Amino acid sequence: MNKNDIIRLEIVDMTSDGSGVAKYDGQVVFVPDTAVSDICDVKILKVKKNICYGKIESIIEPSKDRVESRCPVSTRCGGCVYRHMNYEAELKIKRKKVFGAVTRIGKVDGEKVRDIIGAFDDGVDRYRNKAQIPVGIGRNGEVEMGFYSRHSHRIAPCDDCLLSPEIFTQISETFKEFITKHPYLVYNEEKHSGKIRHLYLRIGEKTGEVMVCVVVNGRGFDYQEELFNAIKEKYPQVKSAVINVNTEKTNVILGNENIVVFGKESITDELCGLKFELSPLAFYQVNRTQAQRLYEKAGEYADLKGDEVLLDLYCGTGTIGLSMARDAKKLIGVEIIDKAIENAKKNAKNNGIENARFICGDATKAAAELKKEGITPDVIVVDPPRKGLTPELIDIIVEMGPARVVYVSCDPATLGRDLKQFEEQNYSVKEITPFDLFPRTAHVESVALLIKQEN
Ligand code: SAH
Repeated sequence: MNKNDIIRLEIVDMTSDGSGVAKYDGQVVFVPDTAVSDICDVKILKVKKNICYGKIESIIEPSKDRVESRCPVSTRCGGCVYRHMNYEAELKIKRKKVFGAVTRIGKVDGEKVRDIIGAFDDGVDRYRNKAQIPVGIGRNGEVEMGFYSRHSHRIAPCDDCLLSPEIFTQISETFKEFITKHPYLVYNEEKHSGKIRHLYLRIGEKTGEVMVCVVVNGRGFDYQEELFNAIKEKYPQVKSAVINVNTEKTNVILGNENIVVFGKESITDELCGLKFELSPLAFYQVNRTQAQRLYEKAGEYADLKGDEVLLDLYCGTGTIGLSMARDAKKLIGVEIIDKAIENAKKNAKNNGIENARFICGDATKAAAELKKEGITPDVIVVDPPRKGLTPELIDIIVEMGPARVVYVSCDPATLGRDLKQFEEQNYSVKEITPFDLFPRTAHVESVALLIKQEN
């Protein structure tokens, strides 16, 4: 097989990041934007030793799972890898991804993996409460806003993302009109010149409050009153307008400092019956409805009776722990971002929760300190970023000896790895429930319950 060859292939499987897989002449060929049992002519783009990458030239016989993609940029933007498939097929792939990782890497008995909780009732579109939209200048000098293309830092222009609420589309339009008048303000990544890097939008779905945050290479930009006045006038639901200062030459979107332009520094949302403050830097699940279902499952797994000490590691603004605090004697939350901890403390106060303590610090170090203090939690909830837990943290958790560990995971592979370490140290996996928090994209979330073995 050579570059530029066109070959007829049948798609037989999907990778965990949503690319179709075919076999040809003993080689594996990855073809994005395909569905299992598609027969298509594929142009070979890259040939490596045992694997090749290709793209669809034409579909000869479509899979029965195919649907028309309603997004004009879905094959360029890296986000919705399953937009050309029906939702049932997508859910099957996602459950299989979790099943595969926890059984293969984690050596967990497959019987313990429950059905995936999909987002059927609420639809699979416009569920995101947050968007971070890069701003750039295109080849012909035009202002571009959209999403980074797959594996690149080129912008795939998109004025109406089907995952975002319509108000985001409207605000983006106002923003684009402003930038188009003053294109020299746009930040240039290569030269590290210019000012405006990203438009960052958030909505509290329950309250309707919107945050407009402009990420700036500096502490402000020319004509900023013109933009912010237009936003204030047109969109009364914007309760927080903020400049986020990011002067670093980096891919990281947000800097550490926020300057409030008008309104508050945070917006408010409601989750699991509690009010939460969201500052620009604080983590908050992007799909509120599905997150509530996930937290309810985590609560069920925690099975609190009222007299337990609950430790919530990687707590963000405290959402999971606070949603369970009513049922526990004491809650301790740990989180590395100080603004999120500030939010968490305020969240506890605003909701009249008095049995919570929040610590800002690294989860592993803080857990070691808590152990030294002699704290023995009855239940520990962990919700780490994709890289999962450190082996040291798992050791510390095991030494603390909680009856239950509830593991919320956004990466099945690291979940599998960590479950294995727990299983080797006197904890056994009771069950795992996959959740679709990110319909149309390749991501899948899971919550696992580990129980301490008697011996
Ligand atoms: N449980 C929260 C947040 C989960 S996201 C919720 O459901 O909303 C993971 C969180 O871990 C983020 O808030 C991130 O800031 C935090 N984090 C990342 N690395 C960390 C570390 N080493 N120690 C503690 N917290 C960390």
